[in-house]
Amino acid sequence: MLINKTLATIAITTLFVAVGLGYISAPDPASKHNSSEPDKAMSSNTTLFSKSGHNITPLTDAQIQEHAKDLTPEEAKVILRSGTEAAFCGNLVDNKLEGTYICRLCDLPLFQSNSKFKSGTGWPSFFQPVDPQHVTEKDDSAHGMTRTEILCARCSAHLGHVFPDGPKPTGLRFCVNSVSLDFVENGEEFPAGGKPSMLKTAYFGGGCFWGVEDTFEKLPGVTNAVSGYQGGNDDNPSYKDVCSGASGHAESVEIQYDPSVISYNELLAHFYIIHNPTQGDRQGPDFGTQYRSVIFPTDAEQMKLATAFITDEQIDGKWKDKPITTQVVMAPKFYKAEEYHQDYHAKHGGSCHIPD
Ligand SMILES: [Zn+2]
Repeated sequence: MLINKTLATIAITTLFVAVGLGYISAPDPASKHNSSEPDKAMSSNTTLFSKSGHNITPLTDAQIQEHAKDLTPEEAKVILRSGTEAAFCGNLVDNKLEGTYICRLCDLPLFQSNSKFKSGTGWPSFFQPVDPQHVTEKDDSAHGMTRTEILCARCSAHLGHVFPDGPKPTGLRFCVNSVSLDFVENGEEFPAGGKPSMLKTAYFGGGCFWGVEDTFEKLPGVTNAVSGYQGGNDDNPSYKDVCSGASGHAESVEIQYDPSVISYNELLAHFYIIHNPTQGDRQGPDFGTQYRSVIFPTDAEQMKLATAFITDEQIDGKWKDKPITTQVVMAPKFYKAEEYHQDYHAKHGGSCHIPD
C-alpha cells in the first residue's frame, strides 16, 4: 500500500522585489526594504516531520478516503469508525517476529516488536510507540467509560486505547487492534509511506535574500530556508564584504525540501515567479553582483532540470522576450548570513512584489 503522493497546490500570491539599494558601508537592515504593504495571503507551510524523519503532515479527508478504498468492511469499521475487533481474533496478537508495526491505512511506522509484550488481553499490546509523534491521543468517553483513544498522527486511523497499567519502562499499555496494523518484518522493505522522508537541498539567488527566503519558506514541502552567500572568492564573507562587490558572492538561499511533496521543477517555477531573471547584476532597484540571478544545483539531476527549465522559459515562458541572465553553477560552499538577515520578513513584517 503506497502512500498517495498528492502534490500540494502551491498558491503563490505574494510577490518579491528588492526595494532599496544594497549597502557599501555598514549594513542598516531596517531601511533595506520598503515595508509599506502588509504581507499578502500565502499558502502556509504545513509540512510536519517527526523526530525520526517521517512526514506526519495530517492527511486531508480526500487523501484518507483514497487510502480507505481497499479496506474491508471490518477494517473500515475499526479504523474509520473507532470500532473494536473481537479479542484473541486478530492476526497479530501472537505475532512474535521481529519487525515494525505500521499503520494499516497510511503505512506510518507506529510500534516495534521490541516494545510488544504479552498482556493476555487478546489484543496486540505495546509499552511505547516507535516515535511518540506518530501516535496521538484523544479523550474517549464512549460506552460509559473514560478512556484515552490512540490514533495514527498522520491519517487519524483509530488504533485502540492506551492504559496506565503497562510494564516498565513506561508503565503504559498501548492496546491496538490488529486490523489497524500491518507488519514489516526486519529485512523486508517498507512501503513508500513507511520510509522516512529524504530531504533534498536546493540553492537560489534572486536578488535580496530576505524576500527569496520568505516566499520559499512558506511553500508546502519546503522544510527550511536560510539566507546566505555563495559563488564568490572569499571564505566566510560578511554582508559588508558581499555588498562591496569584491567578494563576488551572490545573496542566495539554502532550501531544504521534501521531494515527495514538492518537486525541483516546482521550486524552479516558483523562483521564476518571485524574481526577474533578465536583469543581470540587478534586481529591481538593487544593483550589484550579489543581486544576480543564479541557480546553484546540488547534483547532476538538478543541473539538467535547471538548464532545461531555463531553455523552455526562454522559448515559451513569461520572460521569452528578453534574454535570461540566470547563471547555473554547480553549488559551491554556502555561507550562512548574519543572524539578523534570517527570517527578516517574518520578524519585521514587510512585503515583496512580483516583478512586472
Ligand atoms: Zn496512518
